[in-house]
Amino acid sequence: MPEVDAATDLVLGGFTPLSTTDWPGKLAAVVFLQGCPWRCGYCHNAGLQPRCASSEAPRWPDVLATLQRRVGLLDGVVFSGGEPTLQRGLGGAVAEVRARGLRTGLHTAGIYPERLSALLPALDWVGFDLKTDLADAATYDALTGARHSAAAVRRSLEALLACGVEFEVRTTYHPRLISDDALLGMAQMLQDLGIRHWVLQRWQANADPAQQPLVPAWCWPQPLLQEALHELVPGFALR
Ligand code: SF4
Repeated sequence: MPEVDAATDLVLGGFTPLSTTDWPGKLAAVVFLQGCPWRCGYCHNAGLQPRCASSEAPRWPDVLATLQRRVGLLDGVVFSGGEPTLQRGLGGAVAEVRARGLRTGLHTAGIYPERLSALLPALDWVGFDLKTDLADAATYDALTGARHSAAAVRRSLEALLACGVEFEVRTTYHPRLISDDALLGMAQMLQDLGIRHWVLQRWQANADPAQQPLVPAWCWPQPLLQEALHELVPGFALR
């Protein structure tokens, strides 16, 4: 049995006691873990990128006590971020949640394939963040601000498929971030891997002035392109 790191050093960035959107179809609490090594320009949670906790951040023992009181009201707990697999204590926290009879979910960008592989047997669901076409490593690196990011994501995706845990692939989309060709390349790759569900989440404006030219793209992708994506991935959806 793999060794589980204790959750005592877990650094939290936030806690949502009840969410109906972070784990589709489930009532879930969301534990946001602090820190991410990537620097996606459109990051929806840029405040969670640094590894240091804010003085106002919740503490894991207090969150766990709240979760204990909500057993029977919640379907499960999602660990989000930031990149939750950055923290060694995640395995211990997942184990503590499961010990209370709650299901466990994870949001990840697949940054650490080995850590994800070790964690997968203890998870009931994964929301997997695919940034763009893995065949275009240079663009993947440009979006994440990190070298060799596509190779790590590919290994994580392969581990996810091999494990058999339920998962959803999701992509933050704006036409200036992801070209039509890249979308088609992603859809083709997902079809080749036998993945039938894929959600495009339209990019939402954030506070970064550098991102302001990226006006919200309500009408993209164009209908013909959407049809092509549907043909390749039958469970394709826009959110
Ligand atoms: S991987 Fe996720 S948390 Fe990390 S910078 Fe990118 S969008 Fe933000």
